[in-house]
Amino acid sequence: MFPVRCFTCGKVIGDKWDEYAERVASGEPPGKVLDDLGIDRYCCRRMFLTHVDLTGEFSRFAALARIDATPESPPNV
Ligand SMILES: [Zn+2]
Repeated sequence: MFPVRCFTCGKVIGDKWDEYAERVASGEPPGKVLDDLGIDRYCCRRMFLTHVDLTGEFSRFAALARIDATPESPPNV
């Protein structure tokens, strides 16, 4: 999940992630895409360049987490 706002300056950037990811995946250089999208500040640019989408990783283990979510026995007093 990409952050809605830049952590540093608070600019709304979440609405630009889909276009950025699509264009970079098609082979465009990330710096040029960010320039085109109007992401000028380096704090905002690092949000795009360093983002790792882990949504798929989390959902892969969600089923296992539900199985293991049995209540623990109370501690021995
Ligand atoms: Zn920023």
